[in-house]
Amino acid sequence: MTTVRFAPSPTGRIHIGNARTAILNWLFARKSGGAFILRYDDTDAARSTDEFARGIAEDLAWLGIVPDRIEYQSKRFARYDELVAKLKAAGRLYPCYETADELERRRKRQEARGGPRIYDRAALKLSDADRAGLEAEGRKPHWRFKLEHRIVDWIDLIRGPQHTDLASQSDPVLVRQDGSYLYTLPSVIDDIDFAVTHVIRGEDHVTNAAVQIEITEALGGAAPQYAHHSLLTGVDGKGLSKRLGSLSIAALRQAGLEAMAVVSHAALLGTSDTIHPCKDYSALVTGFDLAKLSRAPARFDEAELRHLNARLLHMTEWGAVKDRLGYGSPEFWMAIRGNIETLAEARTWHEVVAGRVSPVVNVEDRDFIAEAARLLPPEPWNGSTWKTWTEAVKAATDRKGKALFMPLRLALTGLDHGPELAQLLPLIGRDKALERLT
Ligand code: GLU
Repeated sequence: MTTVRFAPSPTGRIHIGNARTAILNWLFARKSGGAFILRYDDTDAARSTDEFARGIAEDLAWLGIVPDRIEYQSKRFARYDELVAKLKAAGRLYPCYETADELERRRKRQEARGGPRIYDRAALKLSDADRAGLEAEGRKPHWRFKLEHRIVDWIDLIRGPQHTDLASQSDPVLVRQDGSYLYTLPSVIDDIDFAVTHVIRGEDHVTNAAVQIEITEALGGAAPQYAHHSLLTGVDGKGLSKRLGSLSIAALRQAGLEAMAVVSHAALLGTSDTIHPCKDYSALVTGFDLAKLSRAPARFDEAELRHLNARLLHMTEWGAVKDRLGYGSPEFWMAIRGNIETLAEARTWHEVVAGRVSPVVNVEDRDFIAEAARLLPPEPWNGSTWKTWTEAVKAATDRKGKALFMPLRLALTGLDHGPELAQLLPLIGRDKALERLT
């Protein structure tokens, strides 16, 4: 069974970049008929909060992602401790006593000699007596994983064959001095215990993969397949980090964007498919293929997202928005859906057809508008009323084109742009139209 996981740290809300990772995992799971696990990487008790975890669940639900399983790393410390004991017993996890300052000084010396800046494993040479002495001084160890100095070859499902020489890496610290866990070990243990088959995540983690494969093997697990997707940048080509607040899923939702516009955009951005609006996941699932993802950074442009949102609304049926709007009619929706960028903007047009507007009549158009008012056809009105009426007005006034239509639009709607008047006019109705024209 294919199993993927999305593993956010609940130290903040998710932004468009994280959401993209979640969506890619969700599409992969749906396409393969597999499971999607939401795993909270909340080992950092000081920065993780329940409120952020709830917020992330809400964001995912809004995006239409329904996890098959939810796990919290903070509830699994007993399991991590158990495997730490095993790694210690096997000699793969060893205690180190260097302070951050000492390590820094050592790195500088290595650099001055032109050597590699990797941990020199000095702690491995300590005798029992040395360790006892350091502990008597009050020092507490942090724990490093002893890497095998070998080449790890693996196939990344997006980046292709990868080759990492572990001899060029420092033995990673897995457990801090205070006993707390860094991200690596819990993540590997969970991937093994939850039988994760595919790890799809941002390429900021690509450098962790070889070490994670080796730890997985040291624990007797089978390494998952990895797929590292490129990260999003802004239109300026720079990372999105500074704008993360405004690009949080919560903020995009607040800004009135449609969830499926965000999903379509995030799912298709940086792929060989052209970005187009999808009203649900089905077409995205069908077309999904990790091989379509480009290795180049994908540019995220909020203006493009808004444009996609407009295109999505343009093809949305009345039944899909009726409850959210709480006003309007099928005719109203068909008349205005092509003229809005966000659903909230429908309100403006609802005012135009059902509420009050401030008609605009320029001095030079006064007589023309008075004539047009006299020529308003009797009810009932329908889709051809506008044509009947404007033909009569044209014949009576000799005006045509913009000189004919714009003054009518300004008087009837108070605005110089908007949906087809042929569709708006029957919705406005004769009484209101007459009132606005006189
Ligand atoms: N908590 C990690 C992150 O958000 C998860 C990385 C991973 O998917 O392994 O970056």
